[in-house]
Amino acid sequence: MDITPAPSKTASQGNVDFDVLIIGAGISGIDAAYHLSKTRPDTRFAILESMDDLGGTWRTHRFPGIRSDSDLFTFGFRWKPWTGIPIATGDEILSYLNEAMAENDLRRHTRFGHWVESADWSSKAQRWAVKVWRSGETEPVEMTCRFLWMCSGYYRHSEPYRPTWPDMEQFDGQIVHPQDWPADLDHADKQVVVIGSGATAATLIPALAKTAEHVTMLQRSPTYYYPKPMMDEFTTTLRALDLPDDWFHDIMRRKFLHDQQVTVRRSKEEPQVLADELIGAARAYLGEDYDIETHFTPSYQPWRQRIAMIPDGDLFTTIRSGKASVVTDQIERFTGAGLRLASGKELKADIVVTATGLTLNALGDLVLTVDGAQVDLSQSITHRGIMFTGVPNLVSVFGYLRSSWTLRADLVSDYVCRLLAHMDAKGVGSVTAALREQDQGMPERPWVDPENFNPGYFSRSLHLLPKQGDRQPWLITQDYFSDRETLPAADLDDGTLVYA
Ligand SMILES: Cc1cc2nc3c(=O)[nH]c(=O)nc-3n(C[C@H](O)[C@H](O)[C@H](O)COP(=O)(O)OP(=O)(O)OC[C@H]3O[C@@H](n4cnc5c(N)ncnc54)[C@H](O)[C@@H]3O)c2cc1C
Repeated sequence: MDITPAPSKTASQGNVDFDVLIIGAGISGIDAAYHLSKTRPDTRFAILESMDDLGGTWRTHRFPGIRSDSDLFTFGFRWKPWTGIPIATGDEILSYLNEAMAENDLRRHTRFGHWVESADWSSKAQRWAVKVWRSGETEPVEMTCRFLWMCSGYYRHSEPYRPTWPDMEQFDGQIVHPQDWPADLDHADKQVVVIGSGATAATLIPALAKTAEHVTMLQRSPTYYYPKPMMDEFTTTLRALDLPDDWFHDIMRRKFLHDQQVTVRRSKEEPQVLADELIGAARAYLGEDYDIETHFTPSYQPWRQRIAMIPDGDLFTTIRSGKASVVTDQIERFTGAGLRLASGKELKADIVVTATGLTLNALGDLVLTVDGAQVDLSQSITHRGIMFTGVPNLVSVFGYLRSSWTLRADLVSDYVCRLLAHMDAKGVGSVTAALREQDQGMPERPWVDPENFNPGYFSRSLHLLPKQGDRQPWLITQDYFSDRETLPAADLDDGTLVYA
């Protein structure tokens, strides 16, 4: 597959002043650009992307077996049919994104190798002045825009989360991070230990086990997995009908959404029954003699963390085959030959993979100032998870953590285009989220409620993110089914958006 960036006419020449600057050319940035180009063809916009090509997550993560952990009928765009099997490889996702760019002529709007360091809002000029570092240049350039649309994801691409353990320097083997996978790493015939049991570990382990001597998944505590056949009877029948691509995509999307809705409802109404089912599925694959209690019985309720879908139960079949195994324990320290665990057990390793998560960040680490005063985002309250009190003309895409991210990106894109049209109709130059009198002093809650969703990498950095309130429009629901009703119907003149 050729993913070399095509030279873009506007990439090196052209404007530095825009109506809208989109930051990030991952799936959210492409979605934003698509919506802008279709619904507001006269809008002058550019996508600024620090990497040298599109894809975001799917360009950064190049580890063996990289694939989506949610289905592409909902992770793919609402507007571009996905016709493959539900789970896609990283390369397939990049191809899909490249096609989306090409079909909609979006590359000419995209400037790769542009890292945005800061943005300064001037109320007088009603514009952002954005400081941009271009690859290979020693001085930053300034660009200006009326509106900033942040599609920078939720973690730092340049810096994986690398926890430390005692005596790591003593280890004679290699320590690698999935976000920073060495292209030439040869794991064939090696003893590999993967630290972690989230979606990344579940993806990596079957892929590594194909050639490694043995792969051990070392987890502190168990995780839920959802083994799902990639070709069930329903999908086979649907394929046999030879439907147009958009029909097929639409029906499959509805099916996955329906299944998800049922699971969400059950996780609230009968969490233990659902937990027993997921644990029972692990037992069915691994056999009655396997120690499910220790390795696959989580202590939390399902849905507190994203449940990783494992296509055709591949993680379980790999463990069943003996090519991989699970150890549930704590690391005491590294040794020359591997790891010493709290139980006293020694794990031999040639390669240790730290699948321990991401370094969360807010708005691509942009330093924001408003009329010269630096914004402390952690002190602001979010408006529908899209805008922030005290920060004019800036929207941001933060997708779903339990459902497919893009479901929300699509809804946010519709909302932002509607907001821009509303501002045009009002003849105003700026919009800022502001608490009404009745919202003053309302209880503040973290960006993601730990009672609701609580993976480790979130708890570590939650304090850096803006807060939510206790009522609309100051809530982040993390619920597609309510957002798809409330966002399109949201009143843009309810007094929480101040226009000037
Ligand atoms: C391994 C892995 C697998 C995942 N699988 C799924 C899945 O199956 N389903 C799902 O829903 N979610 C999944 N996610 C979550 C995933 O990150 C999102 O779903 C989605 O890809 C995010 O897209 P995005 O465009 O919003 O952000 P990203 O993909 O993070 O892209 C952000 C882009 O912004 C650029 N950028 C950031 N800051 C700046 C700056 N200051 N200046 C210029 N450019 C900047 C980055 O370089 C990057 O290209 C996965 C995450 C990981 C790490």
